[in-house]
Amino acid sequence: MQAELGATENELLSNVQEVLITESVLQDRVAALGETISQEYAGLNPMLICVLKGGYVFLADLTRALSIRHSIDFMAISSYGNATASSGVVRILKDLDSDISGRHILVVEDIVDTGNTLSYLLENLRSRQPASIRVCTLLSKAARRQTDIVVDYIGFEIPDAFVVGYGLDYAEAYRNLAFIGVLKPEVYS
Ligand code: 5GP
Repeated sequence: MQAELGATENELLSNVQEVLITESVLQDRVAALGETISQEYAGLNPMLICVLKGGYVFLADLTRALSIRHSIDFMAISSYGNATASSGVVRILKDLDSDISGRHILVVEDIVDTGNTLSYLLENLRSRQPASIRVCTLLSKAARRQTDIVVDYIGFEIPDAFVVGYGLDYAEAYRNLAFIGVLKPEVYS
């Protein structure tokens, strides 16, 4: 069975070069973000929009760190596929179930790299007339930004390396790691 599925869990772990953010540091930061967001959105019943697939683990922890009433919805947009460089092509694969007009929107992202994906998404969401729209990303690679978008809440600024874990994948693997790790370049080059 394992052979049919390809690499084993141990082989996947051996492809991780280093642990960049440990599980406990991640959990502490998510709790702090939850507290800040709860204070700033008190009484506003915000809608958290999770960008699939990479944002699902962060959303699950962030939503449980909120002490205020809120709702959630999901969007899926095309990203890199199996490659590790931005294609610049953005396409909606799954749209929201809800009407966001008049709502306070918080977009929950796994990582903002060039910012191209987010820039497209924000333009699209703004056209639906929300009351407000802000962005919360777990990770940010500021050095690689190609757009001047504002990211309101950032978990961690990270260096320019390809990372996996805590929802982030390479070829659909590694999402289940409890930490953020840097993948060995030979795995994807
Ligand atoms: P951007 O449009 O900002 O360049 O790219 C955003 C998307 O690229 C993220 O939502 C994520 O899917 C993917 N991405 C960017 N950097 C990384 C990375 O280091 N690791 C992984 N797994 N995905 C990344």
